[in-house]
Amino acid sequence: LTACGGGRDADTGGGNGGSPAADGECFPADATIGVALPQKTSENWVLAEQLFNDGLTEAGFDPLVQFANGGATEQQNQIDSMIEQGASVIVVGAVDGSQLGSQVQAAKDSGASVIAYDRNLLNTEAVDAYIAFDNFKVGELQGQALLEGLAERKGEGPYNIELIAGSSDDANSTPFFEGAMSVLQPKIDDGTLTVVSGQTTFQQVATQGWKPENAQRRMDTILSGSYGGGTELDGVLSPNDTLARAALTSVQQAGGETPVITGQDSEVESVKSIMEGEQYSTIYKDTRELVAQTIASVQDLQMCEDIPVNNTTDYDNGVKVVPAFLLEPKIVTEANAAEVYAGDATLEPLTQG
Ligand code: BGC
Repeated sequence: LTACGGGRDADTGGGNGGSPAADGECFPADATIGVALPQKTSENWVLAEQLFNDGLTEAGFDPLVQFANGGATEQQNQIDSMIEQGASVIVVGAVDGSQLGSQVQAAKDSGASVIAYDRNLLNTEAVDAYIAFDNFKVGELQGQALLEGLAERKGEGPYNIELIAGSSDDANSTPFFEGAMSVLQPKIDDGTLTVVSGQTTFQQVATQGWKPENAQRRMDTILSGSYGGGTELDGVLSPNDTLARAALTSVQQAGGETPVITGQDSEVESVKSIMEGEQYSTIYKDTRELVAQTIASVQDLQMCEDIPVNNTTDYDNGVKVVPAFLLEPKIVTEANAAEVYAGDATLEPLTQG
C-alpha cells in the first residue's frame, strides 16, 4: 500500500494553488483532501463532517467535505468535482458502494489515492484502503445482546422476534446482518427464537435508504398482520439506533409491550432510552477515533508511507480484497454505559442519572 502511485504534484491538479510537493513527499503538505460523505442518516455522519473539517485543517490540509443528500448521482458529481479541484486523496463514505466505480477510477488515474471510509467501495480496483469499525463484529454483538436481553427481561423462551436490516445499497448492511444471523440463526433453528412474520432473508428485512419511516411502516404491517390476539413481540434485531427508535414507536402506537431491541451508533436519544430501560443495547463506534485514523493515513500518504492495515482477508469487494484497518466496536447496555462512555463529553453525562 504505498502512497506514491505517481503522486499528485501541485502542477498536475492546481487545487489549492499551494506549494509543490517537497522531496520525499508524494503531494504537497497543504493539498486539497476530498471527503465525500453520504446522507445524514445517523448522527455519526454529521459528527464526521465537523471532525474532518477541523482535523484536516489542523493537519495543514485544505479539506473539501461534502454530503450527498440527493443520493448516489449527486455523490458521483461531487467526486468528479473533487478530482477537478485537484484533490490528492479522496475519502469516500459511499451512498451506494457499487455506483462509484468510474469516479474512483478517474481519481486514481489523476494520481489521487482513494480511501473507503466506514463503508467499503464495491466492484472496483480503485480503492487503496478501507478504514472502518469491524462490521461483522457489530452484527455479532447485536445478536448476542438480543439473546442476553431476552433472557434478562422476558423470562424463559421461546421468544417471538422480528429482524430489521439496513439499506441494501450500503455495503455495511450485509456484514451487520450476517454477523447478527451467525448468532441468531442457530437459535431460530433450535426453536428458541421464532420470527413470527416469517421474514428472515436480507432482502425481506432491509430498510431502503436507512429511512426510519420505512422501518416503521414495515413494523406497523407486521404488528397488525402477525401479532396481537395473545402473540407478543419479545425482541427486535435493529441494525442502528434510528431504526430502533422507529420500531419502538411502531410498537407503542400498536399498544404492545416494549420489546428487547438492539441498536448502533450511540445516538443521544437512544442512550437516554437505554438509561431509562427502554432500548436494550447500542454499539459504540467512536467517530473521533475513526476520523483520526483516517487523517493519520492521509498524512502517511503525503509522506509516501504505507497506510497501516490490520485485516487483509475479510473485505473482498468483488474484484479484490481491500486492505483494511478495522477498529473494535463496543456493545453498550444500561449496565456498562458509564464505563464505555467515560471520557466522551457528550455521552458520559447521560449515564449519570
Ligand atoms: C454506518 C452505521 C449507520 C448507518 C446509517 C452505516 O454505514 O456504519 O453506523 O448507522 O450507516 O447511517
